Amino acid sequence: MNWYYANAGQKAGPIEESQLDALRQAGQINDETLVWCEGMANWQPYGKVRQPAPPGTAAQIPGAGGSGATTSGINETVCAECGRIFPIDSTIQFGEVRVCAGCKPIFMQKLAEGAKIGGGLSYAKILTRFGAVFLDGIILAAMNMLLGFTVGGLTFMQAAGAQPADRVGVQIGLFFLQLTIGISYEVIMIGKYGATLGKMAAKIKVVTAEGGKVTYSRALGRYFAKMLSAAICGIGYIMAAFDEEKRALHDRICNTRVITK
Ligand SMILES: [Zn+2]
Repeated sequence: MNWYYANAGQKAGPIEESQLDALRQAGQINDETLVWCEGMANWQPYGKVRQPAPPGTAAQIPGAGGSGATTSGINETVCAECGRIFPIDSTIQFGEVRVCAGCKPIFMQKLAEGAKIGGGLSYAKILTRFGAVFLDGIILAAMNMLLGFTVGGLTFMQAAGAQPADRVGVQIGLFFLQLTIGISYEVIMIGKYGATLGKMAAKIKVVTAEGGKVTYSRALGRYFAKMLSAAICGIGYIMAAFDEEKRALHDRICNTRVITK
């Protein structure tokens, strides 16, 4: 269980429950310190949450979410944007969350851009994704064509008298070289930047379901999962249009999402 606590007006954590208790024992926090963990509706004073409370105090209400929740009985709340603590009357309510005055402009802009409140992900539209895939296709085709011409030219000059079998060997070698380029392009770009050049141009990126960075190994897995999406007549790609989180088949397999930046 990850706990958060208020420290000098800032949200600190996540820390383990044992660490939280250790902080209390060390006197770093006291019974009045506001704490929160996943599943709690509100930030609560430590003393109320961590010591035996009579039934009905409802310190823990599962599944009620927590960001920006108000603290009951205490006129303080946590800004959903910056995570700092403010007097409740200096914050502005937006739906279920509250933000501080300082964060209001950023928050309003995010709302206008269609981002979900409370740190949710804004999934990329399927047409935008197709645009990015198309652009990457052009980039890779150009690279492969250049490579093909180079290899072809060299073969022609150096091995004008070569046997047909050698030429087949060159073709197979070229195929694997191009495949390697295709894989490296995708894995390195996604692993390092979260986006290929096409996706960068379309201002979208690949993230994990939680919005985190995609590792190189997951990017590699996703490359092969994309082959599957393409192999079934592209249906794997089209699936994104009918998914609530705009997941293509390869996103489902690798548990990734494509979001707008
Ligand atoms: Zn704020």
